[in-house]
Amino acid sequence: MESNRAFRMTSQRRTILEELKGAMTHPTADEVYQRVRRRLPRISLGTVYRNLETLAARGIIRKLDVPGGQRRFDFNPELHYHVRCVHCGAVRDVVLKVPISPDQVLKDPGGFEVVGIQMEFLGICPACRSRQ
Ligand SMILES: [Zn+2]
Ligand SMILES: [Zn+2]
Repeated sequence: MESNRAFRMTSQRRTILEELKGAMTHPTADEVYQRVRRRLPRISLGTVYRNLETLAARGIIRKLDVPGGQRRFDFNPELHYHVRCVHCGAVRDVVLKVPISPDQVLKDPGGFEVVGIQMEFLGICPACRSRQ
């Protein structure tokens, strides 16, 4: 992880962040790269990936590790919930009427210090449904 002093919101990072925000799909690094490349044709996938990792390590964005799939990125680091397509892995935000917090759920975390919570609904996305 970079030190505080080393972190700068470079124009490259800003562009990556803007493109991540523009995609409501929780894209993979490769998908972010495809979008960023239209604005910064000389950028490499490695650079996009490293910047995404740095932004995530800073808590500015969030990494989503999808079981059996490629890591995705979420521009919203706040606690919220997702629905994931069991066919293609597409991830979207869902709004819960009654948001839950770790304190509500965990009576005895078994000695763990709880640092986060992840909740995911599973479904079939509109694109996959239309192919069925
Ligand atoms: Zn799907
Ligand atoms: Zn999200």
